[in-house]
Amino acid sequence: GLKDFDDSVSGRVRVAVRLRPQNAEEMVADADFADCVELQPEFKRLKLRKNNWDSDTYEFDDVLTESASQKRVYEVVAKPVVESVLDGYNGTVMAYGQTGTGKTFTLGRLGDEDTSDRGIMVRAMEDILANICRDSDSVMISYLQLYMETIQDLLNPTYDNISIVEDPKTGDVSVPAATLVDIRSHQDFMELLRLGEAHRVAANTKLNTESSRSHAILMVHIKRSVTDMESEISSENDHSLHMSNTSKPPIIRKGKLVVVDLAGSERVHKSGSEGHTLEEAKYINLSLSALGKCINALAENSAHVPVRDSKLTRLLKDSFGGTARTSLIVTVGPSPRHRAETASTILFGQRAM
Ligand code: ADP
Ligand code: MG
Repeated sequence: GLKDFDDSVSGRVRVAVRLRPQNAEEMVADADFADCVELQPEFKRLKLRKNNWDSDTYEFDDVLTESASQKRVYEVVAKPVVESVLDGYNGTVMAYGQTGTGKTFTLGRLGDEDTSDRGIMVRAMEDILANICRDSDSVMISYLQLYMETIQDLLNPTYDNISIVEDPKTGDVSVPAATLVDIRSHQDFMELLRLGEAHRVAANTKLNTESSRSHAILMVHIKRSVTDMESEISSENDHSLHMSNTSKPPIIRKGKLVVVDLAGSERVHKSGSEGHTLEEAKYINLSLSALGKCINALAENSAHVPVRDSKLTRLLKDSFGGTARTSLIVTVGPSPRHRAETASTILFGQRAM
């Protein structure tokens, strides 16, 4: 829970690795080969096979095996961030990994067929709605896609080039043109996620790209009015004090949770291959590598975090580092055929720690 975070240096990114189970295609294609990844969850270690007799060992804050449930993944990776956001801080949960390794499964799964499949976005909203007062508090969401340094509004496809605005005084970032929807019930949220996903598919068809090439960014703004719990408890046996408490103006706590389903981390190969243009390749590498640089700077406690280098990092500016809590889940598959991509994903996670 929160305690794990309290032990950590402020601004540090918590990094978990999750291994996707072997899929049907891999069961056949990789039948005669050993998996390239072996996990030792009890030691929070991952071993990446180099060859038949040797492997490299890496440590993570958490190691989630192929049999880890969605519930457990939520509890380990996201719940402490959600709790902190309810307390009035900003926080980020993001998934990084090669396409097909389970980023969207981890974050965006709706769990329509099987509710135990519900991903982090859905579980986070359940926790948030269960902890707010629906009369006095508010939960607002926006849902964006970032593709080639252009921000599209997934809740209103006519807004296809949204600007980021920064408050010169506070440094807070916002996207005032983005649709902001008041969430009154869990059904509201599920409908918006479905709508956003449909718009994402449509936008990507129009742009002639795949969703794996873009970042999906869910922003949840929470505003709560809370009474000072401590004075309430201490005044429990003191009736007069308790009475005066009720006339005290409530404290407003504002927190923002950002959940980012990052673009596939696989190297975008030479222009022309797989239909990628040089321009696309350049931009996709730009935002992911800018994110990597910021995360490294945070890990090194560097005074300079280069957030201005991309729209992704500008959007996340006030949601990582400082008092914000950041949780990164890196997703990998078991196939030895993707060893090089898996190694590069692991390295990204290691550099964040
Ligand atoms: P990504 O978003 O990283 O491209 P997806 O989340 O779409 O990957 O996952 C690729 C496929 O693997 C999907 O069919 C998904 O249902 C499946 N999958 C991913 N992670 C798991 C998991 N932990 N358990 C079972 N199936 C998974
Ligand atoms: Mg995906």
